[in-house]
Amino acid sequence: MKKNKKALRTKKYRLMPGDGSFIARITDSVLKGREVNLRQAKRLNAIKGDDIYSLFNSAYKIRKKFRGKKVELCAITNARSGACAENCAFCAQSSWNKTAVKVYPLLSENELFKRAKQAQKTGAGYFCIVTSGRRIQKKSDFLKICKAISKIRSKLKLNVDASLGELSLDEARALKDAGLFRYNHNLETAASLYPEVCTTHTYSDRIRTIENVKQAGLELCCGGIFGMGESWAQRLDLAFALKKFNPECIPVNFLNPVAGTRLGRKKPLSPLEFLKITAILRFIFPRQEIKICGGRETNLRSLQPLMFLAGADSMIIGDYLTTKGNPPQDDLKMIQDLGLSTN
Ligand code: SF4
Repeated sequence: MKKNKKALRTKKYRLMPGDGSFIARITDSVLKGREVNLRQAKRLNAIKGDDIYSLFNSAYKIRKKFRGKKVELCAITNARSGACAENCAFCAQSSWNKTAVKVYPLLSENELFKRAKQAQKTGAGYFCIVTSGRRIQKKSDFLKICKAISKIRSKLKLNVDASLGELSLDEARALKDAGLFRYNHNLETAASLYPEVCTTHTYSDRIRTIENVKQAGLELCCGGIFGMGESWAQRLDLAFALKKFNPECIPVNFLNPVAGTRLGRKKPLSPLEFLKITAILRFIFPRQEIKICGGRETNLRSLQPLMFLAGADSMIIGDYLTTKGNPPQDDLKMIQDLGLSTN
């Protein structure tokens, strides 16, 4: 009898990997604090048809339990633009790609402060200073950024993030001492796809910086870009690689193909695929901030409000580094209309 019951359970599980009962069981398990393993993540990935709406609904329940109804807003600024010697296939700022991106050196401390002040006015809680290039080469530039961080921290009510490329442990510690809250360095994609995305630096180089950020005691913002031609298996590889570093925030970018880049002719993902990726990440990362970043407008189009109902709890507000975003007031209205809050 015992054996029969077990056989029945196994059969049911195998026959209906993507149905409502599986979603209900795994949701219940995550809500109770259990982790999703790779086998279960593959079953979530197998969910198709109308069941994906149940998946979104469950991802929302998980988000609500662990993250509440607050939406975190992050404004980013391109503090040094273009002329990058790296060959990242998706990036308009790489000098290997033929794009019309603006090229300028590091902004002044005053200009960075001015932009932070503006970000605060639009309602952002986080302000992220981003620079093009593999790393900050000049000591004077690094010190300028540290000074700007200290000034923003002392005069404004913003958490300051930065994304300055590779960092040594000493640099990570110096940024923390200057008042930096969080550092962004993405894995970008699965290790198996990385050599097709970039050959001028390696996946292991990226990991070294991530480890330095963790060791310095900074919060880690680490995610990737979806829609660069990766398989679903590679998406899960990326998610489980991220899990090893336990980032506080997972930025989710969706390729916005820019003419002149190597990926400029890629077709954007469908809005429902975008939402499914978001929902599965919420199952894998129930407690982390899941931040929807670049490519939202192009990939999600009219379904943008659904990103919060599929598990996201954070987004970039305003313009991106080289492309326009929605007007901030429209995004704030969207959050309000959904009954979510920003504080
Ligand atoms: S992603 Fe960063 S490192 Fe890569 S090309 Fe763009 S600016 Fe350079």
